[in-house]
Amino acid sequence: MGFYRCDVPAATCSAEPIVEWEETSCLLCGGGQWSLLLEAPDVTPGGAGLWFPVVQCHDCGLCFTNPRPTPESIGRFYPSDYAPYQTPPQRRKASRRPQFLARYRSRYRVARQQLQWHGQGRLLDFGCGGGSFLQRMHGQGWHVTGVDFSEPTVQRVREELGLQVFSGSLPHPALDPASFDVITMWQSLEHLHDPLTVLREARRLLAPGGRLIVAVPNIDSLPFRWFGHAWYSLDLPRHLIHFAPWTLQLMLQRAGFRVGPIHMVRHSHWLRGSARLACQQSAQAYHRCTKATGARRRRALALMVARRRPCYALQLRGRANRGWSTPLASVGAAYCSR
Ligand SMILES: [Zn+2]
Repeated sequence: MGFYRCDVPAATCSAEPIVEWEETSCLLCGGGQWSLLLEAPDVTPGGAGLWFPVVQCHDCGLCFTNPRPTPESIGRFYPSDYAPYQTPPQRRKASRRPQFLARYRSRYRVARQQLQWHGQGRLLDFGCGGGSFLQRMHGQGWHVTGVDFSEPTVQRVREELGLQVFSGSLPHPALDPASFDVITMWQSLEHLHDPLTVLREARRLLAPGGRLIVAVPNIDSLPFRWFGHAWYSLDLPRHLIHFAPWTLQLMLQRAGFRVGPIHMVRHSHWLRGSARLACQQSAQAYHRCTKATGARRRRALALMVARRRPCYALQLRGRANRGWSTPLASVGAAYCSR
């Protein structure tokens, strides 16, 4: 078990910055016993050839990337064109999503667009990226603040959108206790090396009665079982934790939150992304199996056909999970209170 590199030209390796790695105990219960769940590649151009293991804790069931890049070197795996870092105009220009898909809005998308007003309307978006959510909430009258790891992205959001955004993580010296009514974490908790510390600080930053909303990919979903290491939401090694609804609930409770209902959310874009990745990987498998012989070749062909059939069906239909419900949910969104 371990990360490894394959089929990468030497010239490519030497030009890349050095990456440091670390092993970690379970991020939820601290347990040191786990078993390998799967290994999957970094599918971004900069990560070509690297595969990473995802393990599952024997004690609490949490899945996490292990070993993983250290906090100091994880930045090497975030490409400059990483989609969440694009500011709203850039993202609109880069998006090829058909407009008609905007009709199929989930509760999660509605929550992101029309957050229910609470307290004095003081909102902190942790992992704000390019600031599209902050900008929308600002337009609705919220007093918005953002935090993100990426210094260049934070600078751009300040300059282009004129919003109050800080670089770094939580705890942050610029943020006072009990100074927010709502904190949101849209697809950011799974990127953290130490999620419990961040969640405990988020609780400290909330005013009494304040709310935390967390949305993360759901590894206990049918798309993950279908696509395995081609599941779009694995996003290794940027995703360090791979939550199921019960592990998300346990972690939020351990941080001191009262956890309300966890909503399961379908995500058509991720399903299509998974299908695309599976097809690309099947094409690589085909290339390999034409060089193999005998039983190995038959096995490779059977695997390739098994993978291609559902993927092509999804791609050709172009409607992904429209009309289906909970088992296909790629995202779990938890609504908590302090
Ligand atoms: Zn554990």
